[in-house]
This record gives sequence, C-alpha cells and structure tokens, in this order.
Amino acid sequence: MQATMQRVPLNMCSFFDRAGKMFGSVEIVSRMPDKSLHRTTYGAFHRRARLLAEALQKAGVQKGDRVATLMWNHYAHFEAYFGIIAAGAVLHTLNLRLAPEEIGWIASHAEDTVIVVDDVLLPLFEQFRAATKIRKVIVVSLTGKPVPAGYDEYEAFLATATGRWDYPPMDEDDPIAMCYTSGTTGRPKGVVYSHRSQVLHTLAQCLPDSIGLSGRDVLLPVVPMFHANAWGVPYAAVMLGMKLVFPGPHLHPDDLLPLLRDERVTVSCGVPTIWLGMVQVLDQAGVGAWKLHPELKLTVGGSAVPESLIRGFARHGIDVLQGWGMTETSPLCTISKLLHTQGEVSEDEMFATKASQGYTVPLVDIRIMGDEGEQPWDGKSVGEIQVHGPWITGAYHDLPASADSFTADGWLRTGDVAAITPEGFVKITDRTKDLIKSGGEWISSVDLENAIMGHPAVAEAAVIAVPHPKWAERPLAVVVFKQGQRATQAELQQFLAARMVKWMVPDAFAFVESIPRTSTGKFQKTKLREMYPTWDWQEAS
Ligand code: ADP
Repeated sequence: MQATMQRVPLNMCSFFDRAGKMFGSVEIVSRMPDKSLHRTTYGAFHRRARLLAEALQKAGVQKGDRVATLMWNHYAHFEAYFGIIAAGAVLHTLNLRLAPEEIGWIASHAEDTVIVVDDVLLPLFEQFRAATKIRKVIVVSLTGKPVPAGYDEYEAFLATATGRWDYPPMDEDDPIAMCYTSGTTGRPKGVVYSHRSQVLHTLAQCLPDSIGLSGRDVLLPVVPMFHANAWGVPYAAVMLGMKLVFPGPHLHPDDLLPLLRDERVTVSCGVPTIWLGMVQVLDQAGVGAWKLHPELKLTVGGSAVPESLIRGFARHGIDVLQGWGMTETSPLCTISKLLHTQGEVSEDEMFATKASQGYTVPLVDIRIMGDEGEQPWDGKSVGEIQVHGPWITGAYHDLPASADSFTADGWLRTGDVAAITPEGFVKITDRTKDLIKSGGEWISSVDLENAIMGHPAVAEAAVIAVPHPKWAERPLAVVVFKQGQRATQAELQQFLAARMVKWMVPDAFAFVESIPRTSTGKFQKTKLREMYPTWDWQEAS
C-alpha cells in the first residue's frame, strides 16, 4: 500500500508568499543609524524581496551562488534574507564584528560573489574586499547619503527588476543559507542550511511548548541577523506574520528600552550580556517604571543564563526562556520551560528549571557520551552532548569529515558537557575547553559564574582556569561590579562558600571595568586567558 498524500517539497518560499498574501498590512519597524524610525509593511517587504530576487538573477546570480550580506538588523536585511533565497541563491550572512582579515577569509572560503552591504559598513567591506572574489557590491543607503560611484545602489538595483518574475525550480534539500561559527573556540567553520531544515526548525520553534510564538506577538530580534540565522526568528516572523521591530546598530539598554516600550514588543531575543545590562537599568528605574508590555518575554541563549538574571527579570514581571543550540544546529535544540509532567513545583524549583538548558524540542535527539559510553539520564552522570536531527549539520562546508566533530554513527559532537535529568532537562556544566581541572577534580566555570553573578553587587563574571604549581589549575574569577557597588574578595568568597564546596571557591579574583566580548556578544574567554596567562599565587594565598 502507498500513502495517498501529495509529495510537496518543504520550501521556505511558501511561508514567504503566504505572508505576502495574508499579512500585507503588518508593520516592520527599523531603527536607523541616526536613531530615526523607518516604517514599512509585509506587503512592501514581499514585493521588494521578489524584486531583489529578479534583479539578482538578471545580474547573473545562479542557483546555489553565494550572496553575502554585511548588515545590521533592519528592513533591508530582512528583504535580503528572503530575496536571496527566492532567487535560488544562498544567503551568507557575514559577521560584521569579526576582524576584517577573518571576514575576508570567510567570504573567500564560502566563494561569495555578490554582497549586499550597509553604507555605514562600506569602510569595513573595503578592508577585506581584496581577499574575496566578490564582483558585485549592492549598497543600502541607511544614512540617506548618495552611494559612492562604483557601487550598485540598492534602490536602483531593485528598479532593474520588472516584477514579472517567477521562482526557479527548487528542491527541499537545496541550500538556502549559510553561517560560519563565530570561532569562540577555533577557526570559523561553515554550516549550510536547506529549505527542509529551516522549515522544520521554524515549525518546531513556534510550538507552544517550544518558544511559543504567535502572529499576535511583536518581535524585536536583538540577536544579530548574522548570528546563526538570527536564531531562526526571521523565518518564524514570516511564517506567522508577526510585527517586527529591528534595532539597527543601537543595542545599548538605553536604546532598546524605549523601542520595547513604544512598539509594544512581546518577544525579544539575545545573548545574556545584553540582558545583564538591561536588568540593571530596570532595577535602577524601579518596578513598573518602564511600562513595558505586560506579556513581554525574553528568549536568551548563546551562553548559560544565570539564575540571578532570570529572577531579576521576574521581579519586573518579565519571563525569561533559555534556549541552547549552536550555529551547527540552526540553532534551537533545547528550551527551558516547565513541563506538564513536572506537576506543581515550588518557586525555587521553577527558577532552577528555567536556569537549566531545558528539554529537547521535537525531532531533536540528544545523548551524553562519557569515557564509558552513553550516560544515563540521572541528573548526575555527565558527558559530551551529542545531537542528531533534521536541522543539525552532518558536515562542514568544504572541510573533510573529522572524528572531532562527528561520531561514526553520524551524530554531531557539540563540545558541551552536561547531565540530563530523568525528566529530560539538560544541565550544561561547561564547554570541554572551559572546564577547570583542579587537583584532579573538575570545576564548572558556568556554575561558578552563575553563583558569583548571584551576589547583589556583581554585574558580570567570567571564570577561567589559570595554571597552579600545586593543583595544576585553579579558577580565576574576573568580576565587574554594578555601578556604585563593590564587595571585597573575602566577601565574595564567603558568599560562594555558603553555596558550594570549599575547594571550588576561587582564590584568585580580578576586578575589572568590563569583560571582553566575542563577535556575538559572549564573554571572550580566549582573550581572558591571554590577559591572565599566570597568577601570583603567593599573594593570593
Ligand atoms: P561559537 O561556537 O563560536 O560561540 P555558537 O553561537 O554557535 O558560536 O555557540 C554555540 C555554543 O554556545 C554552544 O556549543 C554552547 O557552548 C554555547 N551555548 C549556547 N546556548 C547556551 C546555553 N543556553 N547555555 C550554555 N551554553 C550555551
């Protein structure tokens, strides 16, 4: 017997066309570099993205060609997200926070031939252009200034299209987008997504027990559109027709808060460092002072979310959901919410659940592998997280398969170490490379950071291993205090000693003004290790 269902390939453009038909009047708001607001609609977005697709094809872009973007989060980047896919090409979002040599290497490795770039980022582009094979440069004037000669101006480029155009043939396994890992732990590696992987990821991400998104939501993606598909939210927005609010280049809490308030945002997403700053501003203003939407929730991921941050936002009635994933995993793998199987839980249990990385979303398989093979889900046994599923990469672009990255049975090795509870909640201890081995015992830098950030005077903390003559390695805590507050090393140690075994408490502390960030806004531990290669232990003891 055969199933009688129609065989329809999964295709991102079907979300896109449905949005054009059904959500034409829904607003898209973007903050420009001069902080003015640009307003457009899904109707205009759909029409213009199709014009971009036609114009790209007329300019010689063929199926599978890589078209890069070097852009902040705004309406034109959103048009590029879909226009490039609609042309049958591959959207390659370049990370504008990397060093020019690194971006050049990535653009050359991906074989980008066309780029869409913000005028404010042209000077950056020109620093790496020579390293690439980019032949066509389409410039979006965000400043309103004329585009210099020698480049294609975006509006003029769109005007080369007629609007009488149809999609090229597409298969669900065709590539639609690519991202490079941001290289927190090594050289960037390219991951290529397909229609199928992203359609399925979008469906799973929006489910009520996943992030739980609806067309009624108003979404402000703080996560850059060059970081892991902006966590898939542009695709989700198009599937559901959500009002979008793009922050442009201004990501300081003082800039984000008025946007969140004035545009009545209900969902925002970004890495913890963004929200660590914002909760301080909210605290200073006092509960209710900012008059944000009463249902505002934040999706936070990219690195571990301290429980103190979740509690901090809860004081202001703002719910924090933690997601865990990687560029390699599209990115969503797990989400931290209470499960109906947990029944009634105390407030402390609720916050502990939310501070875990959560349970897998449907279609993602997970296991933890220790030296003795697969570990049980008992909440105690730890091992490397390995994942498998339709939106998990099975290889890296133009790199030979390596046993460091993939297992013999085709699962992705994440390099993250975790335990899983019997209910299925993942609790990440660390990245393999960040664990601290002190006197033969492992110390989790994530646990230490979260505990230190629980101290009322501490704004941010990152912990790294430093060589030690007796213990091989000991933790060094690099700490930033909240404005106008301080604590002594002894006070912090006392605070920690009440929360963990004594030998885990750091005996080395560095009090600093700020912690260096990676290109995606995480604490940059490689840089900290360079800054603190050794420690004067005699003085510390
Ligand atoms: P990079 O590897 O360059 O940092 P990614 O953004 O792909 O770029 O990072 C993925 C990694 O980020 C994961 O392997 C994990 O170590 C970390 N990560 C992401 N989300 C979380 C989370 N919720 N908790 C802890 N770590 C996280």
